[in-house]
Amino acid sequence: MGFRRSLAVITARSVNFISRMMGKQGVTMAGKYALKVYPNLLKDLSSQVREKIIVTCGTNGKTTTNNMMAAFIKSEGKKVIINSTGSNMLAGVVSAFVLSASLGGKIDCDYACIEVDEASARRVFPHFKPDYMVLTNLFRDQLDRYGEIDITMNLLSEALDMAPDCKLIINADDVLAASFAKKSGHEFVGFGIDKPCSQFRSSENEIREGRFCLFCGSELKYDFYHFSQLGSYACPNCGFKHPLLKYNATDVSLSKGLKFAVEEKSDSGDTKKRALSSNYRGFYNIYNILASYACGRELKFDLNKIDKILNNFKPENGRMESFKVRDCNILLNLAKNPAGFNQNISSVMEDESEKDLIVVINDNAQDGHDISWLWDVDFERFADANVRNIVVSGLRAYDMQLRFKYSEIESEAVMGVEDAINHMLKKGSKNLYILVNYTALFSTRGLLKGMEKR
Ligand SMILES: [Zn+2]
Repeated sequence: MGFRRSLAVITARSVNFISRMMGKQGVTMAGKYALKVYPNLLKDLSSQVREKIIVTCGTNGKTTTNNMMAAFIKSEGKKVIINSTGSNMLAGVVSAFVLSASLGGKIDCDYACIEVDEASARRVFPHFKPDYMVLTNLFRDQLDRYGEIDITMNLLSEALDMAPDCKLIINADDVLAASFAKKSGHEFVGFGIDKPCSQFRSSENEIREGRFCLFCGSELKYDFYHFSQLGSYACPNCGFKHPLLKYNATDVSLSKGLKFAVEEKSDSGDTKKRALSSNYRGFYNIYNILASYACGRELKFDLNKIDKILNNFKPENGRMESFKVRDCNILLNLAKNPAGFNQNISSVMEDESEKDLIVVINDNAQDGHDISWLWDVDFERFADANVRNIVVSGLRAYDMQLRFKYSEIESEAVMGVEDAINHMLKKGSKNLYILVNYTALFSTRGLLKGMEKR
């Protein structure tokens, strides 16, 4: 098998190289061809991980959480394999392993941090059984790709059945994640925020999944919501309720980055409190930090360098990534479903200064052709967000413009993204937000990188 393994490595490297030469992201193709050459490749390579394999699943926040988690583990002096670009289907996972292997097909790593698409987990887990699964949240996503949320949950549970010893680290504020964990019968710990945050302005018109108890069908009672269905819930009929938080964020402050404390319950029942701060913005990022922190602590790391990592963490994948083009500060962020978009709107509103906004909506296969979800986003809130000009772009620019029109918000359509950015620069924009859905992310990021250099 040594020969086929080497051949698979060479194939992956060649495909990756050629794709890059052609200006394409070759990561997924590399994995696809390598697996054709040697179908046992992923099983073989992943079995060489010396310590633990952690997978991150969930609708929103996977890439940020997974990258942050890997940074925490690396800061403990460990070697980590990671699919950092967010290629999270089987081929992308294979690529992460095969592209870090030697020509002889050997990998040298202590941990693997792998984000896995919820619907792809059942194709990945036959190759390796993760030791931990971090579940960030379960929101409604691209309906024509995933179907309703219970279909996603069934697919994920099918996968988890293949890994009976996998421990779950879940967002306990999400009733769907908590119900999923309880139903699975797997051991789990929860993280969350047990009190409402007064500084955080959420939308009041959000679609909330999980209104009914998944164990008995009764309507759940909520003490409060943070956003979407995340909050504090209990079933008045069967006793199912928000599980105890092993990792609880308290004293949350959103001014000038994120500040909060994590209260951690030990097995003996003591509570330890630790203050954390981050240059990261956006209330929802507290969950991403909590998830990574919880995972690091479950792995028994002290995380002594966490402050430095959080304060220097530079997102480099279009998640809240900042650029400077001439004298304009540009913030690029991915927004691919209603929950994600509503969170983005909240983050834009956390910045009270004057700003401009570009929204790019595509409807390629990876985005989902059905863009009716735009009607589930509370765009009306942009009217109170101190936004000067709005430009819509992308393949479905006119649908987006119509959506704004129904919110009585004026916008201009500029078809090319580069033209849209230049249009804003000409209008003297100094503070520009660009919100894009999935397939627009890679190209827009490339454009901004290029414009920054000019
Ligand atoms: Zn119930």
